[in-house]
Amino acid sequence: MPASMNTDILIVGAGPTGLYGAYCAGFRGLRTVVVDALPQAGGQIAALYPEKEIRDIAGIPGSRGRDVVAALKEQADAFGPQYLLGSQATALVHSPDGRPQVSLADGTVVDAGAVVLTAGIGTFTPRPLPAGEGFLGRGLSYFVPDPSAHDDQDVLVVGGGDSAVDWALALHPIARSVTLVHRRGGFRAHGPFTSAAPPSSPTPRSRPCSVTSCFARRTSACAARPSTAS
Ligand SMILES: Cc1cc2nc3c(=O)[nH]c(=O)nc-3n(C[C@H](O)[C@H](O)[C@H](O)COP(=O)(O)OP(=O)(O)OC[C@H]3O[C@@H](n4cnc5c(N)ncnc54)[C@H](O)[C@@H]3O)c2cc1C
Repeated sequence: MPASMNTDILIVGAGPTGLYGAYCAGFRGLRTVVVDALPQAGGQIAALYPEKEIRDIAGIPGSRGRDVVAALKEQADAFGPQYLLGSQATALVHSPDGRPQVSLADGTVVDAGAVVLTAGIGTFTPRPLPAGEGFLGRGLSYFVPDPSAHDDQDVLVVGGGDSAVDWALALHPIARSVTLVHRRGGFRAHGPFTSAAPPSSPTPRSRPCSVTSCFARRTSACAARPSTAS
């Protein structure tokens, strides 16, 4: 028999939006349940860039991702929300009396006065690099949870958006070299990111390139062979 729960507010997604939502609900005296598919709270910040220095939060000139999450959680936890982590919300229906009910992957049904969806970009999975198939965890990674894993390495960052430029800049001081490969002529990354790039490195290639193949240089490494995009 599936478990059932009852709460005033169910928040789906324990990213920064959901955590602040939990604080707001608690502040108003509402019983709150926060559900997230990930095993920890913090959404993209905790999962993808906990070590990054975040600089665009009003009133906070700079703070590491993990510290931002800890602060959001401390703020929310003042009102004791219940966290259901590692639980994916799979369905939303309405009971005959009109109350929303959310089913979780483990069969639990949460009956709530209101459901707040703060699911961000969903249960995120990276867009795979086709040429990198078979190299995941062997030199190829899609996130940088721990920059020190790239200490003194030659790093190739593939992409031209905020994340790519952001990580290239973050790894530049610790990696042996950083090369940024982008298949378009210009970067999509926000202007200040690209203008903040130090002149020496990361090294933007002088023409649009895309990664067409990966090959093993050592047993534990993946090297990519970029070629000019057509
Ligand atoms: C590399 C990188 C760097 C970034 N840097 C910055 C920056 O410097 N400054 C800035 O302002 N923004 C930055 N961002 C963007 C920022 O992280 C997002 O805007 C922010 O995380 C959005 O918060 P959110 O709570 O709305 O969603 P998310 O952080 O995406 O959290 C949503 C949560 O919902 C959960 N979820 C989704 N669907 C379900 C489901 N069905 N059941 C259960 N749980 C579910 C997910 O697991 C996730 O934990 C960056 C993003 C990346 C990827």
